[in-house]
Amino acid sequence: MNLENMNALVTGASRGIGASIVEVLARNNCNVIINYNNSEKEAYQLGEYIKNKYNVKVLTIKADVSNENDVKNMIEKIISEFGKLDILVNNAGIAIDTLFEDKTKENFQKILDVNLIGTFLVSKYASKYMLEQKHGKIINISSTNGIDTFYPMSLDYDASKAGVISLTKNFAKELAPYINVNAVAPGWVNTDMNKELDEEFIEEEINKIFMKRFAEPEEIANVVLFLASPLSSYITGEVIRVDGGF
Ligand code: NAP
Repeated sequence: MNLENMNALVTGASRGIGASIVEVLARNNCNVIINYNNSEKEAYQLGEYIKNKYNVKVLTIKADVSNENDVKNMIEKIISEFGKLDILVNNAGIAIDTLFEDKTKENFQKILDVNLIGTFLVSKYASKYMLEQKHGKIINISSTNGIDTFYPMSLDYDASKAGVISLTKNFAKELAPYINVNAVAPGWVNTDMNKELDEEFIEEEINKIFMKRFAEPEEIANVVLFLASPLSSYITGEVIRVDGGF
């Protein structure tokens, strides 16, 4: 795939799936904007590594996707430094899994603010420029938890990811025919998000997966690459499950 002269913003790209999406896009000659919130060191290290290895343009930007001012400033900086934005991957996300009886309004709100409102805000400000250009690709990272319900301990996260699917379909309709808006719904992926899970639970979950393992971040990133590329020109408002056959 040759994404030369394309510029892609990946939110929450300092670690995990986001960092892998950055690398897969850069490997295909795409310039990348690495957004982070807390993990400054990891984000800049990734930026240096990508610049040296793939010889593409890299910009690293701090922004909390749930903060409207941060988002507005980030998009304006991208346009002033890169001239245009072709691909947006709304990947930033958090989960705060607790027992049902320990669920709080504050944590529920935090999750919605980052996962759902963050996706809305970045899409809103980025799509303004994509519409002017009359082209663009938006890829939202949802989750299989946004399609089915598995574990009430993540009911707040699940609601946010179901909301991301609804946003995907509404934005696809609103931004057509110029911008493709799709979602990827991963199942279990080997990242920090799952590092607290206990061994026994992991084994039970692996037994439910046809592939008998969690995904590697790159296996999600490859699907994002397809949706970011011209190969997916007639797909919009769609959700692609990547769960190894759960
Ligand atoms: P991760 O390793 O925990 O990384 C999360 C990323 O999101 C970090 O780069 C973090 O950046 C960023 N982030 C969090 N809050 C942010 C904010 N307010 N503003 C900007 N960035 C923010 O998680 P992951 O597993 O890679 O998950 C990536 C996405 O995939 C998430 O949307 C997640 O819900 C989804 N997903 C994951 C799995 C899985 O099994 N891992 C399954 C399905 C879906 P900083 O560290 O810089 O704050």
